[in-house]
Amino acid sequence: MKKDITFEQLQTVYDLGYLFALQKTSLDEALEQLVGSLDMNQTSATNYMHNFEAFRTGRVYKRAMSALSYEIFLPRFYKDLPLPEFERVIESVELHLEYRWSKSKAKHLEVRTLVDSYKVKLASLTVSPIYPDEIPEQSTGFIEGAVKQVTINAYERDPKARAACIAKFGAICQVCKFNFETQYGEIGKGFIHVHHKVDIAIIGENYQVDPINDLIPVCPNCHAMLHTETPAMSIEKLKQIIDSANT
Ligand SMILES: [Zn+2]
Ligand SMILES: [Zn+2]
Repeated sequence: MKKDITFEQLQTVYDLGYLFALQKTSLDEALEQLVGSLDMNQTSATNYMHNFEAFRTGRVYKRAMSALSYEIFLPRFYKDLPLPEFERVIESVELHLEYRWSKSKAKHLEVRTLVDSYKVKLASLTVSPIYPDEIPEQSTGFIEGAVKQVTINAYERDPKARAACIAKFGAICQVCKFNFETQYGEIGKGFIHVHHKVDIAIIGENYQVDPINDLIPVCPNCHAMLHTETPAMSIEKLKQIIDSANT
């Protein structure tokens, strides 16, 4: 009879899968521990380790895992991974659920519900803040009640470009090093503005944003200060301003 995989085995699968992803253990060593020490079935141990590789790269995996595995893995991934990588895990689980559905019309409702709750969380974290930015001064004067708030420009809002930029630099202000997670804990995780350094006025029709060279994560305070000049001042200049204001 097939034994259910235990809580303890799953925790170890996670630990080993993570170490394997970091290339700190080999597949053989991991399997030896899972099968040898934890008495896991060789086939499940191999499947679980392969699934982990899929999670890391956002690919589809085919072998099913128990609902308990998701309850254990997803919160740990959420805690351990930078947001763009956690998004890949969720992508991978969704692809898997689609695959199961296409094969056997299995809905896996528990897992689906769990995945959806993380998607809601991710959506609230990755929605760009509305921020008046790159707007020319209005010359028409003050109109009462007309709250002139314009969303940040399209390059700063593009989720893929944002994710690539944050994956490179971290969700840390590149001017003052402010980190929302350090300051605010869980609710601050992944929160940051992304500033587009290229002057909108000189952008041509065929321009494609380069997330690493053209975008930069900044906190809302520094973002506001960058835009006290038009076009926005450089990151270097704002750093110097902070330095001289604090000496
Ligand atoms: Zn800052
Ligand atoms: Zn900006």
